[in-house]
Amino acid sequence: MVSSEHPYAKELRIASLAVKRASVLTKSLSDTLVETSKTGTQIKDDKSPVTVGDYASQALINHAIKINFPGDHIVGEEDSSTLKDGSEEANALSKRILDILSEAQQRTSRSTEDLGELKFLNEVYESIDLGNYEGGSKGRFWALDPIDGTKGFLRGDQFAVCLALIEDGKVVLGVIGCPNLPEFISSNENQSGKKGGLFSAVKGVGAFYTPLFETEDFTPLKDQQIIKMTSETSPATLKVVEGVEKGHSSHSTQSQIKDKLGFSTTTVAKQTINLDSQVKYCVLAKGQADIYLRLPVSDTYREKIWDHAAGNILLYESGGQVGDINGEPLDFGKGRLLHSKGVIAANKAVFPKVIEAVKSVLSDSN
Ligand code: AMP
Ligand code: MG
Repeated sequence: MVSSEHPYAKELRIASLAVKRASVLTKSLSDTLVETSKTGTQIKDDKSPVTVGDYASQALINHAIKINFPGDHIVGEEDSSTLKDGSEEANALSKRILDILSEAQQRTSRSTEDLGELKFLNEVYESIDLGNYEGGSKGRFWALDPIDGTKGFLRGDQFAVCLALIEDGKVVLGVIGCPNLPEFISSNENQSGKKGGLFSAVKGVGAFYTPLFETEDFTPLKDQQIIKMTSETSPATLKVVEGVEKGHSSHSTQSQIKDKLGFSTTTVAKQTINLDSQVKYCVLAKGQADIYLRLPVSDTYREKIWDHAAGNILLYESGGQVGDINGEPLDFGKGRLLHSKGVIAANKAVFPKVIEAVKSVLSDSN
């Protein structure tokens, strides 16, 4: 039983309400996208729904942080310069952002007392640009990915709204809204149940799950489900989550690692679940899979802190472990980027074996 008297109680309440409001907003865009692509009215390669959603989600979350924690900084993915260039396209995007914000704020009006309300474009631009902090190893700041998994969003698949609080380089709180995540997932083919999950973790308190859309209100942790990672180690039953996009992680290296771990070639496909965004960390934390492999495709790409911060604490608090390709913990105190390569997450029992396999495969390929 978790009491409502825990560290970061106000931060968790505001972060959860803000992520929920942003999830309502992005889910409505995602549903419209799926609908218009079914009826053929979606223009192929039109990325504007995700652009509108990204800006609107960042604006409302930053605004909520600013009015509740005025001294805090924010590292956010977006900045508003392209919206303010005066072009017809920028003006049209800006108008759509205001419209979608207004709709989401109305649909979550009970949260307005806590989250405030954005009514004018200048406040929207200002809020977006609060996300320009450079990060670092001292002090307190939030890391926000307003829509993580934009490729998944555009396909009508998985995406997530991810918010983390970082103090002196360490993640202390994480909240992830997964609007399209089904309750049950056991393979790429086998997924069912209601869609929408909210995942939270507070340092030293634990990791929690609650349905995302059942109530607009904040659910205290004592009424949420405590989630735990598995302790599975058998290659016959282990499940691995990986990204969908081959440009974001090396599927061929990941294949070799599974081979090295002893996965059978006849069952490996059924044991691999491909998901966009930090939803992967959520599926692991919930105990629906055991390993997350993200092997770098390029030597020069550096991961962004907002792509991993919330997922990182969720994994630790559910009893798992996360590292880079050498098994070293990720360092969120080095600025807006991680300086390490790749991400490997797993339950604690199997983590050392996974790192051993990663090192062996990577040294063979050099
Ligand atoms: P995923 O959905 O797991 O494929 O991850 C989505 C995230 O991958 C996006 O938010 C991007 O920031 C990030 N990304 C973009 N390019 C790369 C790359 N070359 N390697 C790793 N991640 C990338
Ligand atoms: Mg992202």
